[in-house]
Amino acid sequence: MGQLNPQFDGETVIVTGAASGIGREIARQFGAAGAMTIVADLRPDPKDGDVPTHELVREEGGDAEFVQTDVTDVDQLETLVEAAREFGGVDVMINNAGIIVSGSIREVDPETFDKIHAVNVRGTFFGTQAAANDMIDRDDPGVVINTASISSDLAQYDQVQYDSSKGAIRMITRGSALELAEHDIRVNAVAPGQIATEMTDGWADEAREKIADDELVKPVPLGRAGTPADLAPAYLYLASEQAGYVTGEMLQVDGGWQVF
Ligand code: NAD
Repeated sequence: MGQLNPQFDGETVIVTGAASGIGREIARQFGAAGAMTIVADLRPDPKDGDVPTHELVREEGGDAEFVQTDVTDVDQLETLVEAAREFGGVDVMINNAGIIVSGSIREVDPETFDKIHAVNVRGTFFGTQAAANDMIDRDDPGVVINTASISSDLAQYDQVQYDSSKGAIRMITRGSALELAEHDIRVNAVAPGQIATEMTDGWADEAREKIADDELVKPVPLGRAGTPADLAPAYLYLASEQAGYVTGEMLQVDGGWQVF
C-alpha cells in the first residue's frame, strides 16, 4: 500500500491533552513530520511516569515545548495560543483533551456532569475560539481539529454525560467550520472508536460490569481495538494541504465500529 506523508516543517501545532494517550502520539507524529509541537496538558508526563511528551518528541529528533494548560480556563487557552507566537503563531490547533466518568443518568451528580462538559465541550469551544481569533488577527489562516468520538453518534451504557459532550463537539466542529470558512480556516474532527489508552483502562473496567469483556471488541469489524498510532495519521491528513477542500467533517477512525 502507498504512503501519505504530509510534512509540517516551519509549522506550529498545538495539541491539548498531549501528555498521554492519543494526544501524545499525535504530538510525536507531528514532531516527526517537522512541526514545532506544543504539548498542552495539566501535567507534562503520562501518569505511568514515562518521559514527558515534549522530551520524547525531542529525543526523536523533533522540536517541542510544554505549556501547562487547563483547557477549562479560557485565559489559559489564550495564553497557550499566545505562546505559539514565539514560533510564528499557531497553524494547527488540536483540541484533544478529554475526560470520561461513567455512571447512570439516574445517579450522575451535577458536579461530575459540569466537569466533563467543562473539559470536553468548553475546552473545545474556547480552544477553537482562541486559535481562530489569533489566526485572523495575524492574517494567517490555519486548521482546527477536534477529538470527537464514536460517542458523538452512538449511545453507550452509563455514558450519557460523556456521549452528550462528544455530540456537542460534532456540532462545534460543523458550526465553526461554517463560520470560519470565510477566513479560510478549516475545522474538522476525528472520531476514535475504542482505543487502548489510560482513559479506556478505567472505562473498560467499569463497562465489564455491564457487558461481557469480549463484547467490547466483538462489534469492531476490523476485529481489534485501536491504538493511538492508528489515530494520529488522521490528524496529519486533516491538517495537510491534501485536505484543503475538507471542512466540517468528522472522520471516523474506529475499525468500522460505527456501521453497527
Ligand atoms: P488519556 O486520558 O490518555 O489522555 C487525555 C489527556 O487529557 C490526559 O493527558 C489528561 O491529563 C488531559 N486532560 C484532562 N483534563 C484536562 C484539562 N482540563 N486540561 C488539559 N488537559 C487535560 O485519554 P485518551 O484516550 O488519549 O483521550 C484523548 C481524547 O480522545 C479525549 O478527548 C477522549 O474523549 C477521546 N477519545 C478517546 C477514546 C478512547 O477509546 N481512548 C475514544 C473516543 C474518543
